[in-house]
Amino acid sequence: MSDALRAHIAALVPELTALRRDLHAHPELGYAEHRTSAVVRAWLDGLDVPYRAGLARGTGVAAYLPATTADGAARPPIALRADMDALPIDEATGAPYASRSPGVMHACGHDGHTAILLGAAKVLSGLADRPNPVIFLFQPAEEGGAGGKRMVEEGALAGPDGLAAAVVYGLHGWPDVPVGHVATRPGALMAACNRFDIVVTGRGGHAAQPERTADPILAAAHVIVALQSVVSRNVPPGDAAVVTVASVHAGSAFNLVPAAATLSGTIRAFASDVYALLTRRIDEVARDVAAALGCEATVRWDTGFPATVNDVAATDRVVATARAALGADRVDAAFPPTMTAEDFAYYGQHAPACFFFLGVRDPAAARWPQLHQADYDFNDDAIAVGVELMVRLALALAPAMGDTTLR
Ligand SMILES: [Zn+2]
Ligand SMILES: [Zn+2]
Repeated sequence: MSDALRAHIAALVPELTALRRDLHAHPELGYAEHRTSAVVRAWLDGLDVPYRAGLARGTGVAAYLPATTADGAARPPIALRADMDALPIDEATGAPYASRSPGVMHACGHDGHTAILLGAAKVLSGLADRPNPVIFLFQPAEEGGAGGKRMVEEGALAGPDGLAAAVVYGLHGWPDVPVGHVATRPGALMAACNRFDIVVTGRGGHAAQPERTADPILAAAHVIVALQSVVSRNVPPGDAAVVTVASVHAGSAFNLVPAAATLSGTIRAFASDVYALLTRRIDEVARDVAAALGCEATVRWDTGFPATVNDVAATDRVVATARAALGADRVDAAFPPTMTAEDFAYYGQHAPACFFFLGVRDPAAARWPQLHQADYDFNDDAIAVGVELMVRLALALAPAMGDTTLR
């Protein structure tokens, strides 16, 4: 990229920082990103970039920027994705632009992702020379609502001529990575996840007459302990998996055995066979351990997210692009996979895709909050890096692009 283009991005940073902070001050939960979506549409209107709005239950936006070159019209588009939703958390950053909506905050930095993609749209729409069409995806409800799944189902991965995206790129601000650096890996980057709720039903009664009860608290306690055996005894040691019971609810009085106890938690895995194994064993362990203690367990599963699996060729392109932009020493191409999950996974099920982590941690800071913590804030110093990478990826004319390597 020319120095002129980099200077152009640098000149946009104050405007993008103000935009990011405005989004931060007005966070909205999944599928309720009405103001955010309006900000996105107004920005695109200002750039004269056409878009489809009203996607994914109303707030999703997919913009399309055609190529400018003669052969570019026949090329499949490159898709860039941002998420727009916030979390049900009371903000504790103390920032002057802190959330004005009590109980809702941008604790995952999606305000930064949206501002970066709008910045990339501004830069790209101003270029005379664009070899590829570009799709800009602004999706709702990443935090558990599977907004990405709806975007895909509603055709957001295709341009107006029906040509499907050759590749999809997405980024996430990452507190473990210093600002100015990028990290990713080919293959599984983020885990598949699901939520379980186990209801253990017994027979309530007087706490002084346990022989007349079937104690669901005792059974639930045994279920919790036995569930630890699923990862330690059933999953092959070379495979990664997590089973966490994160919530336990039972009882209302010290002298009464309740009739039921409820456990809730999450599973994580990369491989689909491990994911299936966790699901099957949790069902079996909960049911049979509860039965041994005279109770009955039923397990309810949510829909879950698939694993985010990076396409090898797309990841090579991200790594090469980031190395060219930032220097080889600032790009980690073999970042350890994380057990957190992302609904970017849905794009990767339909097109070659690469998700990468954009550094946000100030290396001079003694501590940087983790995602979803009440004092997490996206680092505005990462905006220019994010815009530059998205712009470079949209312009990259890889040799394989458009042929069989990238379907
Ligand atoms: Zn999040
Ligand atoms: Zn996030």
